[in-house]
Amino acid sequence: MTRLLHRAIHSRMPVAVGGRGIELFDAEGKAYIDASGGAAVSCLGHAHPAVLSALHEQLDRLAYAHTGFFTSEAAEALAELLIADAPAGLSHAYLVSGGSEAVEAALKMARQYFVEKGEPQRRHIIARRQSYHGNTLGALAAGGNEWRRAQFKPLLVETHHIDPCYAYRLQESGESDEAYAARAAQQLEDKILELGADEVIAFVAETVVGATAGAVPPVADYLKRIRAICDRYGVLLILDEVMCGMGRTGTLHACEQDGVAPDLMTIAKGLGGGYQPVGAVLLSEKIFEAFASGSGFFQHGHTYMGHPMAAAAGLAVQQVIRRENLLANVVAMGAELESQLVERLGNHHHVGDIRGRGLFRGVELVADRAGKQPFDPKFKLNGLIKKEAMARGLMVYPMGGTIDGRQGDHVLIAPPFIVERADITRIVERLGDAIDAAVG
Ligand code: PMP
Repeated sequence: MTRLLHRAIHSRMPVAVGGRGIELFDAEGKAYIDASGGAAVSCLGHAHPAVLSALHEQLDRLAYAHTGFFTSEAAEALAELLIADAPAGLSHAYLVSGGSEAVEAALKMARQYFVEKGEPQRRHIIARRQSYHGNTLGALAAGGNEWRRAQFKPLLVETHHIDPCYAYRLQESGESDEAYAARAAQQLEDKILELGADEVIAFVAETVVGATAGAVPPVADYLKRIRAICDRYGVLLILDEVMCGMGRTGTLHACEQDGVAPDLMTIAKGLGGGYQPVGAVLLSEKIFEAFASGSGFFQHGHTYMGHPMAAAAGLAVQQVIRRENLLANVVAMGAELESQLVERLGNHHHVGDIRGRGLFRGVELVADRAGKQPFDPKFKLNGLIKKEAMARGLMVYPMGGTIDGRQGDHVLIAPPFIVERADITRIVERLGDAIDAAVG
């Protein structure tokens, strides 16, 4: 009997006892390929020697110092490195312990920015349906997944949602990418005008939608149009790259590929690669300036923010990625993964779409390929795929369909950046077999 309250109260899980490279091992000695990096976390795989030695060294020197009294060498160095490589205009890093904390902090920074500027009437947040931004109440309010929100209503933060940029389902047949980008982005302008042009704080979006949709990238120019609309109305753009960021899509930040820089960006998961819980908000100079010349404070804080162990993990992971030029491998192996997925599953009767960027790929499953009809949610296809994959020693990240019942189940594949061609072949074989077993 377990005394551990897990998410799925009735499900029994294997006990993880070890990890090395791209594999995890359970207490029975069974190996699993970590083909989703957990939830797109383990970018360097497990037990990377350089990260372990950095962590041992940090632990020997200093485990904890409260940020109300001290900064630390590790936190300073991590902030320096993050800002050196940040999108244009981002000038400071605020270190926290994970993705939800980063989103909470970003929402509050956006709100405080306008208070400092003498525009306290700005109070609305606009986000997108189908998105996930975390499970704390502010982040949950920003998220656009009705089934996650329903039992916690009324939510403490009032947010408003527009459609995601989701070509497979929402682009009309015959509609060009350009026309679709314009139509999808127009929803933001319409929503801002409906709420009052000077009453909106920020628009929040994942650059590439991860957990809830299975690696859905925006069509060309969508984010540029979003940026222009935000600028037109003085609305802040918050890009949530907690899952898709830090190299996962082949560039350090996913938004680099869209030619867009946000006012605030949240990062986490791949930042520390799972070696420690660490996240960050990268904020623009104008937001920093508003705090500096205003109250002199960001009215927020957590006991473990900027924790030296977490910062040391982030620093070590990010240094390895640069030193070993791993983004080149993300691009090469990402293309390999895409082509093997297309070869194995491209004509599969139940595969509607294969998409993504770099080592961040999604497969959407449908009952009827021609009509894009999702499986009946009662079938719980995602759970079946998870079970079949685990039985075959494969960890991928399947999720159920949402967006008003119109979105199919999907599987997210996000292996560590050190993955090799032969690993990709094993991943795709096992995944194909697991899908066949689940739907058959
Ligand atoms: N934002 C995004 C885009 C995420 O994918 C997640 C986690 N899946 C979060 C925020 C929340 O991060 P955490 O679970 O670390 O709180």
